[in-house]
Amino acid sequence: MDYGKLINCMRCGMCLPHCPTYRETFHETASPRGRVALVRKFQEGELDISDRLIEYLSLCLDCQACATACPCGVNAGELVAEFKCEKKAEEGLSFMEEVVLRRLLPHPDRLEAATAPLRLYQNSGLQKVVRKLGILKMFPPAMERMEDLLPALPAQPLRRTLQEVTPAEGKERGTVGFFLGCVMSLVFSEASLATVRLLTALGYRVITPKEQKCCGAPNILAADRKGLLDAARFNCELFSGYELDYIITDCGGCGAELKKYGHHLEGNGQAALFSTKVRDISQILHDHADLLREKLTPLPLKVTYHDPCHIAHCQGITKEPRELLRLVPELDYRELPGADSCCGSAGTYNIEKPEMSDRILQRKLENIHATGAEYLVTGNPGCLLQLRKGLAAAGSSVRAVHVTELLAASLGGDWG
Ligand code: SF4
Ligand code: SF4
Repeated sequence: MDYGKLINCMRCGMCLPHCPTYRETFHETASPRGRVALVRKFQEGELDISDRLIEYLSLCLDCQACATACPCGVNAGELVAEFKCEKKAEEGLSFMEEVVLRRLLPHPDRLEAATAPLRLYQNSGLQKVVRKLGILKMFPPAMERMEDLLPALPAQPLRRTLQEVTPAEGKERGTVGFFLGCVMSLVFSEASLATVRLLTALGYRVITPKEQKCCGAPNILAADRKGLLDAARFNCELFSGYELDYIITDCGGCGAELKKYGHHLEGNGQAALFSTKVRDISQILHDHADLLREKLTPLPLKVTYHDPCHIAHCQGITKEPRELLRLVPELDYRELPGADSCCGSAGTYNIEKPEMSDRILQRKLENIHATGAEYLVTGNPGCLLQLRKGLAAAGSSVRAVHVTELLAASLGGDWG
């Protein structure tokens, strides 16, 4: 770890009100400043590794709201993640991590096969029976939480049904590669289909390489740097085989990781070029706002927007999605208080730290309801899973959708 990054903290406290875990606890150890101090003391040999130290650090969501707020460029979330990666490199992966991170995630076919039983579970009606009888209460709580998060799955993963090349509508302006994230393909296939539809409507030919692998973000969450680097090398090599103007993603988590490939694979020219071409879908749509405006039809809906951490804090994208929503005729846009504060999803945080995740989610839900919006729009699958689960549990009528679903609805076609 670069010691210089640790000593940049001048302990001013400007990050404190932006940190979701500090806001909930008011504990210094649950603040960015406290976490930086803990990692620094460990590096300086004044603290030994202990369960307590790991517990304090693992409460960090890696939402990076602190990095946005810090005047000295300190990124406590990233420093904690680096610290965990270094420990993991010494300890090695557990058996389950090895299975999931090395044998499942990098193989899209295996990943799709692994989710087939979940489709059967839903389509056979078994899920309804299990939920009604509360059968999952007999299993470990983490299993019930995972089941709770499970939304209605599409009949097929999008990777299976989407053609590799989707032609532009009308005059072609260029070619983009589409990085179809695992969760987007497996769960939110309609949103990614909407992404392709919007891109083609703007005149782009869309290439979706079928062999692409998971971006490696789950590896970093599990502190598995080697897995991330393997994924990065593979995807850079694959996409370099096409002539592309941009590489587009509609998954905030993937986008944040893909933009860092060049940094992760320092000295690798292919990776540097790859990362410079990556755009979140909201960025490229925003570049063509005038053309898009001409194509959109009225949607008289009350809408608010939640900033995914991976889009707002990791990629610095906040104005584009809002301005896109404001392009839709008759749409009543309402700003969400604390819009850029984490929803408590944070990868697998909502399974591993359920109590803190629920407290953070509760605050988010209260803010959503205070806007009076009918639709909550966002741009990351983890947030969609978390917010849909929270809204359903609260008996809310607010619907959570991806920004591309709403914009594609405004282009015309089915909605609702
Ligand atoms: S991390 Fe940044 S904002 Fe927080 S106390 Fe240190 S210097 Fe101040
Ligand atoms: S990454 Fe998020 S949870 Fe972690 S210290 Fe920073 S603001 Fe707090």
